[in-house]
Amino acid sequence: MDTLVMKQQVCEWSVRAWKEGLFEGTCGNLSVYDRERGVVIITPSGLSYRGYRPEDMVVIDLDGQVLDGIHKPSSEWIMHTMVYRKKPKVHAVIHTHSPYASSFAVRNQPIPCILTEMIPALGGDVPLAKFGMPGTEEVGTEACKVLQGRGGCLLARHGVLAVGANLEQAYARAGYVENAAKICSIAMSNGKIDPIPEDVFQAVKAHYGVAID
Ligand code: 13P
Ligand code: ZN
Repeated sequence: MDTLVMKQQVCEWSVRAWKEGLFEGTCGNLSVYDRERGVVIITPSGLSYRGYRPEDMVVIDLDGQVLDGIHKPSSEWIMHTMVYRKKPKVHAVIHTHSPYASSFAVRNQPIPCILTEMIPALGGDVPLAKFGMPGTEEVGTEACKVLQGRGGCLLARHGVLAVGANLEQAYARAGYVENAAKICSIAMSNGKIDPIPEDVFQAVKAHYGVAID
């Protein structure tokens, strides 16, 4: 795909994530990967989403080398590129600081699989990746460990990582993570919750033919 079109997409979905409360302040980042050309278009580091322009997006290779752009790439570029290296079907990555999901991350608590829609959309529960210092290889390594068969995970004490075959899917998954966390929080405030039992989980999985990798 044309680099300019990809920059426009990354810009538009980022502004949307900010307006919809998935990003806050300058926290959160997003990228797409063109596997044929080996280029990643990623959001700039520390730039306010207010007034974001396509030309503010940064083009890097998988080693973080800037190929085009006037800003520094997101400080989480290592996590994004690590996912692209390890997951061949992933072409878009979004890292959010959405509040309900992040509230589970600060408690070091995965989001249990409590809703049937979590199975086709996310592969089941939202696992918790062990703490890794933001912007380091460690955070990417820990995230990749728990992303097996899952569309998203929590980053301990930090936020959310969601992946997809394209931006639309990665974004939708980030939204499913946030919504599941919100519903789970409400349900927990009314008493103890039970995750979907294993036999129901397997039946729903078979029903939708779930295969996330
Ligand atoms: P960047 O502005 O460098 O993308 O950092 C935001 C963030 O969420 C770091 O984890
Ligand atoms: Zn972050």
